Amino acid sequence: TTRTFYSLRPETPLPPESFPNSAAEFALSLFHSASLPPHPALIDAFSSASLSFPSLLSQSSSLATALRSSPFNLSPGSVAFILSPSRLEISVLYLALISIGVIVSPANPASSSSEISYQLALSKSSIAFSVSSVASKIPSQIPTVILDSPSFTSLLSSNLPKSPLPTIKQSDTAAILYSSGTTGRVKGVGITHRNLIACIADTHARRINILAEAAAAGELPPPQTVALFTIPLFHVFGFFMLFRSVALGETTVLMERFEFGAMLKAIEKHKVTFVPAAPPLIVGLAKSPDVLRFDLSSLETLAVGGAPLGRELAEQFVARFPDVELVQGYGLTESCGSVSATIGPEESKFYGSAGRLGANLEAKIVDPTSGEALGPCQRGELWLRGPVIMKGYVGDDEATSTTLDKEGWLKTGDLCYFNEDGFLYIVDRLKELIKYKAYQVPPAELELILHTLPGIADAAVTPYPDEEAGEIPMAFIVRQPGTNLTEKDVMDFVAKQVAPYKKIRRVAFVNAIPKSPAGKILLAFILSPSRLEISVL
Ligand code: AMP
Repeated sequence: TTRTFYSLRPETPLPPESFPNSAAEFALSLFHSASLPPHPALIDAFSSASLSFPSLLSQSSSLATALRSSPFNLSPGSVAFILSPSRLEISVLYLALISIGVIVSPANPASSSSEISYQLALSKSSIAFSVSSVASKIPSQIPTVILDSPSFTSLLSSNLPKSPLPTIKQSDTAAILYSSGTTGRVKGVGITHRNLIACIADTHARRINILAEAAAAGELPPPQTVALFTIPLFHVFGFFMLFRSVALGETTVLMERFEFGAMLKAIEKHKVTFVPAAPPLIVGLAKSPDVLRFDLSSLETLAVGGAPLGRELAEQFVARFPDVELVQGYGLTESCGSVSATIGPEESKFYGSAGRLGANLEAKIVDPTSGEALGPCQRGELWLRGPVIMKGYVGDDEATSTTLDKEGWLKTGDLCYFNEDGFLYIVDRLKELIKYKAYQVPPAELELILHTLPGIADAAVTPYPDEEAGEIPMAFIVRQPGTNLTEKDVMDFVAKQVAPYKKIRRVAFVNAIPKSPAGKILLAFILSPSRLEISVL
């Protein structure tokens, strides 16, 4: 018998799929009819430069027109690679490109040249947008627009005659984000306009509910949200949060580079109410003495996701910030962001849970060996279906068909269970993936690099637990007989070729790496609170 878990949230109405609409138009339509919000749309945490809602709209519209004209001539379906830290212009660029059907493909600016070339080829990008400090990592055959240049600034106020926006189907791809999925190297996740519209509609509906509940209870509406993003805009979490903030007419404070002290200062200065974050930030907030030097009383909500948040850490945070609601959430790039979350003060007390399934989503818990769908309180692989689930990995039908089945179920590669009340618990990861400070590190990529190092007979990379980063990449190395490769040799060799967050940070030399007859590496850490051991699966 099949057992399906349905969302317990009220269903979020979505516009008909046949309705031609880009995700950008949809986001803007949510507050367009009313007057534009008077507060800033975006603020730069370091310079305090800001962008108003009227400027955000007029700049993105000017930019969209300019990018459709000579010399760019971008048309629907072309792909724009974006390599930049979180700058105010990124939101203008995202809105402009998505409104004209150009596919947005943002990548981590810390990536190495070879990682960037690989992503450019995966996404088939024809143009890039970058900043002067990192643009040299983009191969010269890709025309690159420099965001911190006068020529880009002039595009934001160009007064070329506007033509009607192109027709965009909701099933068209809006963005290509990067994830390695359950196995192998990084892949391009095709996110459709429909996926984004479903995400935006859901957060909008939730906000409307909160306002309605406050009104019904005779309470004042909650204060205007000022969000501070410690999460990057190229990762699905920041990507979708940015659309959310625009659609809700909120102020967003951006940090070009993350600095803990600067973040505390910005919370105080801009009276930040909402911080979406990855778990390592909670470590700082719960433990750092610096926190006590700032007035953080404006903070109302901290939304944590992207990697496991331990119950103990959650409790330490709440002890220090009793008035801040800790929203614990879970999601993945392949689901265009949030899958589940604790909503409201009551649910947020379920420390260690990833909350309840979001609106319009269905889930199954599937026994990894028998393929049987399981009931509550039983552990298995989480499968998901709903309007936010990706269309597939671009240009990779094989990876798509092993991840998405014919009925539209996404296999997450996460070992989970639902309790009797619909709360989701993420127990472990079945897939080959390391999360260093919530950033994805695909072991297969590091293993490929290690195999090119002379003196290595075999290599395997696994996650190793770390208090601050969550996990660090650890290499198990079999030396070639007669070589005396050191830990440092291994670490330095990899460090030169990858983004800093992917570095190997621990090495063990072993006699052999256990493999299945098919060559699959059978090495994993069994992570449990009481013991840590290497187990041969
Ligand atoms: P990404 O695509 O980079 O967002 O990575 C998604 C993966 O991160 C998920 O499949 C999980 O393995 C992990 N993850 C995200 N949120 C959580 C969470 N709240 N608890 C445990 N793991 C998480």
